[in-house]
Amino acid sequence: MADAPVNNSLTPQPGHLYVVATPIGNLADLTERARAILGSVDLVACEDTRTTGGLLTRYGLRRDLIAYHDHNETEVAERLADQLAAGKSIAVVSDAGTPAISDPGFRLVRACRRRGLPVVPVPGPCAITAVLSASGLPTNGFLFAGFLVAKTAARTAFLEKYRDFDFTLALYESCHRIDKFAEEIVATLGPDRVVCIAKEVTKLHETFLIGRAADVRDRLLKGSLKGEFVVLIAPTDFIL
Ligand code: SAM
Repeated sequence: MADAPVNNSLTPQPGHLYVVATPIGNLADLTERARAILGSVDLVACEDTRTTGGLLTRYGLRRDLIAYHDHNETEVAERLADQLAAGKSIAVVSDAGTPAISDPGFRLVRACRRRGLPVVPVPGPCAITAVLSASGLPTNGFLFAGFLVAKTAARTAFLEKYRDFDFTLALYESCHRIDKFAEEIVATLGPDRVVCIAKEVTKLHETFLIGRAADVRDRLLKGSLKGEFVVLIAPTDFIL
């Protein structure tokens, strides 16, 4: 395991992997350090070369890109770790937000950690922390469970398991299931449970629906169900 301090300057160091967060909507949210690192690493590993190519072009940057996504993660992670071991500097990004958070990245980071190669976070946007921080729901602790599986029985079982959890539950949900999920929360946890459903955060149509689960569901169903959603569920006894 590497235990030497890593170099946190704006200049990528040989053999270092940079885990770089990119905007979740608002392009002004790319940090200065992210921009500097993305503009000068030897290679950028990204989910979709067109998406990241477009992002880099918006910032006037050009770099060599390599596809690293859900379908080739295991194999490409080892190849990238080989290149890092040979002295290349590499940044990993996802299409939006923080890599490895419900996005590719974990396998590459683990491959580097296993080999003792330095891994440097370049923090920035992440949908879950953005929503939690602005929700007004308890932030003293939270359980982030990513995306729930599609099957209703498993989703209900998850909600039942955490019914009396002491901290906020935080989840990602797709636009195809957000209406169903809002119904499931009301049915399983009751109409009075305090929830937050946030949509299109940092984008033009950013919306926070906060309150009783039944009211939030009704307001959600009145609006457009397109876009990207984060769901927070407050602990049982929480009053807004
Ligand atoms: N790694 C990303 C991050 O750090 O936020 C998350 C990637 S995950 C594949 C995509 C999910 O994150 C979306 O389906 C949605 O649940 C959530 N998400 C991403 N951007 C969002 C936004 N601008 N507003 C609300 N939710 C968002």
